[in-house]
Amino acid sequence: MLTKVLIANRGEIALRILRACREMGIRTVAVHSLADRDLKHVRLADESVCIGPPPSAESYLNIPAVVSAAEVTDAVAVHPGYGFLSENADFAERVERSGFIFIGPRPETIRLMGDKLSAIAAMRKAGIPCVPGSDGSIGDDPQETIGIARDIGYPVIVKAAGGGGGRGMRVVHSEAALLDAITLTRAEAGAAFGNDAVYLEKYLDNPRHIEFQVLADTHGNVVHLGERDCSMQRRHQKVIEEAPAPGISAEVREAMGARCVEACREIDYRGAGTFEFLYENDRFYFIEMNTRIQVEHPVTELITGIDIVKTQLGIAAGEELPFTQDDIRIRGHAVECRINAENATTFRPSPGTITLFHAPGGPGIRIDSHIYTGYEVPPHYDSMIGKLVAHGETREFAIARIVTALEEIVIEGIDTNIPLHLELCRDAAFLAGGTGIGYLECKLGIEP
Ligand code: ADP
Repeated sequence: MLTKVLIANRGEIALRILRACREMGIRTVAVHSLADRDLKHVRLADESVCIGPPPSAESYLNIPAVVSAAEVTDAVAVHPGYGFLSENADFAERVERSGFIFIGPRPETIRLMGDKLSAIAAMRKAGIPCVPGSDGSIGDDPQETIGIARDIGYPVIVKAAGGGGGRGMRVVHSEAALLDAITLTRAEAGAAFGNDAVYLEKYLDNPRHIEFQVLADTHGNVVHLGERDCSMQRRHQKVIEEAPAPGISAEVREAMGARCVEACREIDYRGAGTFEFLYENDRFYFIEMNTRIQVEHPVTELITGIDIVKTQLGIAAGEELPFTQDDIRIRGHAVECRINAENATTFRPSPGTITLFHAPGGPGIRIDSHIYTGYEVPPHYDSMIGKLVAHGETREFAIARIVTALEEIVIEGIDTNIPLHLELCRDAAFLAGGTGIGYLECKLGIEP
């Protein structure tokens, strides 16, 4: 087993990783910025190291600072969480070259999947269905580009090969807007991701977002843990997630899951990963693979009983998966609401001191959050302050539980999006299940 893990992240996921380590008897090192001295996991960790000033670029994204912290504390492995350096192949490489275990896929896999174009090419080769689009990046010839878009058919979406986090995408409804959209997206992508390659995909009108969770060890064992539906989105960011996806039959789950497992074997995948698909008219279209733990992993944990973070730690230690595909059973339904420090109607971020926090509870309720009464939400990072997750025997029962918990939770001193969650969890279309990715923005009156 691993003896000491450095947690290269902050907030709820850092606490989630710390809890898994402690359960397994692994010592922990927390790294934090100057703004994050009071994070819960920093207080609970065996050791902590301040790695820089509040801006992420100077702390959580500072590769030399993180690697030095691992060196001075004699950590044996680094868990990157999600966001920050988790999908940075250079970081994974640097961690491994410095003699530490990177808790995630091999650096070359992260690089392959981090570029959406090479990811799509690899997936096509592995037999995974992809969105119809330009085969590769768009070149400099405007006539050729116009021809490609005509072949795909409008609307199309211009996507940056290096994009992520919902950024680097632009929908184009007509030929007149195409070339300007490409120029703009290219310029933004070059500045934001250091890679100005862009490509075109058919823009699916209102598909659902359905993704499959996989786990692969270093002994050739690969399993899938079924799917999640993350269609409730605003600005391409997930707001509510659930598992299993409404209306997906056991047969379809097994067939798609098996294809994802096969694709993992093809690319010699290691660790936890997620295949993201758009789903429309009973068909799946691959959009990207996330080579890390995801925010929404708890819904899968609740319906399978498998601790994904502990499994990641076991895989990193070289252990075989402690279960086979046949052992995996899906039980009941789980729903997750991402709680953000933001105004529920204007979405304006609301950092500040939490003057009162009361956690809800009861059967089937799980809270993954680092907040406590007196905690000050810093203005420097993502506004998510925790996740409320509910499990029930049926979807209806899980939603009833999350509504009860949303009514019970108290967070004072800052604005949160809890009122929005309450509204959505009582929304007739959501209750019916199977709403598309455009549903929330349409409900909020936002033009697509
Ligand atoms: P990111 O890496 O930024 O998360 P993705 O490729 O995963 O980007 O896409 C994020 C979201 O953007 C999807 O969940 C979906 O809402 C929307 N999207 C992406 N590609 C398409 C497409 N071809 N048609 C319609 N919506 C899309």
